[in-house]
Amino acid sequence: MNLPDARIGRLVAAHTFPEPIYVTRPSLPPLAEYARALEPAWERRWLTNEGCLHQRLERALCAYLGVEHLSLFCNATIALMAALELYGLREGEVVTTPFTFPATTHVLRWQRLDIVFADIDADTCNLDPSRVEERLTPRTRAIMPVHVYGTPCDVERFDALAAKYHVRVIYDAAHAFGVRLNGQSALRHGDASVLSFHATKLFTTGEGGALAVPDAERHRQAYLIKNFGIAGEESVEGPGINGKMSELQAALGLVQLEQADEEIARRRVLSQCYRRMLADIPGVCLFGERPGVQPNHAYFPVRINAEAYGAGRDALHDVFRRCNVHVRKYFYPLCSHFACYAGLPSADPAGLPNAERAAREILCLPIHGTLSVESVETIASVVREFHEALRK
Ligand SMILES: *Cc1c(COP(=O)(O)O)cnc(C)c1O
Repeated sequence: MNLPDARIGRLVAAHTFPEPIYVTRPSLPPLAEYARALEPAWERRWLTNEGCLHQRLERALCAYLGVEHLSLFCNATIALMAALELYGLREGEVVTTPFTFPATTHVLRWQRLDIVFADIDADTCNLDPSRVEERLTPRTRAIMPVHVYGTPCDVERFDALAAKYHVRVIYDAAHAFGVRLNGQSALRHGDASVLSFHATKLFTTGEGGALAVPDAERHRQAYLIKNFGIAGEESVEGPGINGKMSELQAALGLVQLEQADEEIARRRVLSQCYRRMLADIPGVCLFGERPGVQPNHAYFPVRINAEAYGAGRDALHDVFRRCNVHVRKYFYPLCSHFACYAGLPSADPAGLPNAERAAREILCLPIHGTLSVESVETIASVVREFHEALRK
């Protein structure tokens, strides 16, 4: 065993958590509160299909998020497919980012659309409008950007591309719950925005999602799509699917919504703690706070520059695992690396240098409302002390 190994062993021994620390974890109210929220569904024996809890959650979320037309779904993946279906996107090309969760790319494949990857912006890790414009062709029908880590995309430039080239913009806003841009909801851009309420997300209904659309007619169509196309007892208007959110999920959403501000506030405190403690470690780059953006602190990504830090992201990841801290490499591997997409011409790593680099360098540190400031301080100390151990 050489010297750094002994030092790292001591570091791990000094900072190992007795219970696993996960990158995220849902904040749950007392079970009795959930039971109370379920009472209206029990009394009516109404468990799904636009029940009163579903209606109440839809209205409450519109008010909370600052949008007019929101449709609840069983999950974000089906909501993304519904958004594509809503605009008749069943053939042609869609330009999207490789730096995302697999669902973003998979829904395009399920809709039989041709996937075209474009590179991301090096600072925000969001799809870069300039790189998108280079990849537009007469066959391009839409752009699907992702507000990665809740950082809003360059929505104005995507709006401009949509107008200039007559393409749709469908946002995967899975990370962007509650994010505001210049005082307005980040969901008020493009032709549709999809939120995820998965258990790993900031606001959760266990499984769940929502589709925000610009007008009442699209909202009505989204409703038909998620309800088998059923418009009335004897009328089916189109080939819909089952994308409905149940009353059980909606009840959880209602109790979650009551604590959403507090959850974001707790995460803000943890985020500030990380920022303070990680500020001056060589090779550790934080994501900047952006002007005009009211963030949701859903994630705490850091970038590790191997040369300046003394070791790469993967080495730091492994040290954390030894400390019982389940940090995550979001998003590694890139979607363009999956065997099902790697053969696409646009998946060539040479054309996606920023995404390739981000996938190698970024580590998401734990952040959630049930994490203590002391735990965050310990996690930040691991980042610092590993660097110091490597430099000695
Ligand atoms: C979580 C996530 C999804 C999928 O959401 P589900 O609700 O699990 O279907 C899609 N895109 C991104 C970027 C995500 O993080």
